[in-house]
Amino acid sequence: RPFSRSLASLDASKVKITNVREHSVPKPNDQLVFGKTFTDHMLAIEWTAEKGWGVPEIQPYGPLTLDPSACVFHYGFELFEGLKAYKTSDNKITMFRPDMNMARMNKSAARICLPKFDSEELIKLMGKLIQQDKHLIPEGQGYSLYVRPTLIGTTPALGVSTPDRALLFVITSPVGPYYKTGFKAVRLEATDYATRAWPGGVGDKKLGANYAPCILPQLQAASRGYQQNLWLFGPEKNITEVGTMNVFFAFKNSATGKKELVTAPLDGTILEGVTRDSILTLARERLDPKEWEINERYFSINEVAEKAAKGELLEAFGAGTAAVVSPIKEVGWQGKDIQVPLLPGEQSGALTKQIAQWISEIQYGKVQHGNWSRV
Ligand code: PMP
Repeated sequence: RPFSRSLASLDASKVKITNVREHSVPKPNDQLVFGKTFTDHMLAIEWTAEKGWGVPEIQPYGPLTLDPSACVFHYGFELFEGLKAYKTSDNKITMFRPDMNMARMNKSAARICLPKFDSEELIKLMGKLIQQDKHLIPEGQGYSLYVRPTLIGTTPALGVSTPDRALLFVITSPVGPYYKTGFKAVRLEATDYATRAWPGGVGDKKLGANYAPCILPQLQAASRGYQQNLWLFGPEKNITEVGTMNVFFAFKNSATGKKELVTAPLDGTILEGVTRDSILTLARERLDPKEWEINERYFSINEVAEKAAKGELLEAFGAGTAAVVSPIKEVGWQGKDIQVPLLPGEQSGALTKQIAQWISEIQYGKVQHGNWSRV
């Protein structure tokens, strides 16, 4: 940018707080529907190309006022993040790996010419926002506060160009377990009739523009009885992601007895999931390397179908912040359903269950893992 004056950087110490007149009463846990209830306050910070980041404001949750010509409405200058805050068993409130979300958010911003910001400052501000509404964070296994940072371009002009105004806001939503009755294994439709992401595209960024086009294929899959799309890519029919989650498969080589946990490599077409990274890290630390190989590699639906036919398909699950781990029981492909084995009478395989427990123990503060939990 051709500015010589130094621009204000994001500064959490400048925060201005305006309280709601009356705090709301927490909803009973069983009435929480994912992303439909919001807390009393939101965080909003304006940015301009002339001045940089303005004063961060924590203010009552409410509608935004934007010019109808704002570039977010016309050209999709929007990106977002999703992370969770937990009430831990020792009564702390922690965010799970917020540094990862902030790094990803800055990468998304850079890609669509929205302003970058100091990650640590936004983490501090989210902390203040969470503290402000801490009476609304639900307690108990599977319950948490979902945090949604969002950045939009607000330049009021129809020319397609670099936004010179932006708004960063954060809203929070008390949420319960994705599946009320614990795990619920899902049926997927392997999808080659629509493409989520492609080389040179932006599928590895959390841009709102990546999500709207995925709803129609999801409806098409749903009309055939499948909950989500298993997104394939290319003539090889490589498996990339599932719905809005990363995806893992577990295989067992019947000749050698060796097992493999596999997920697609980060080649620019895969969202760099925080849950994905956490699972790879824990699997590499905790699974016996004599028994397990942990791989980020290309693998196709044909490989899965062949392995399933030989009895070498062990497990499959999606991984993301919302559901954390979501077991898969069937994959529809070319008119047939590939069956994924589950533990007898249960909704997942043994490894899926183990990994979900490992992550939950860290998120709820029963086990420490480096700096993953941020008080
Ligand atoms: N893939 C896509 C397309 C997503 O939207 C998400 C949710 N952010 C994920 C994967 C999982 O990422 P994370 O574990 O960071 O939630």
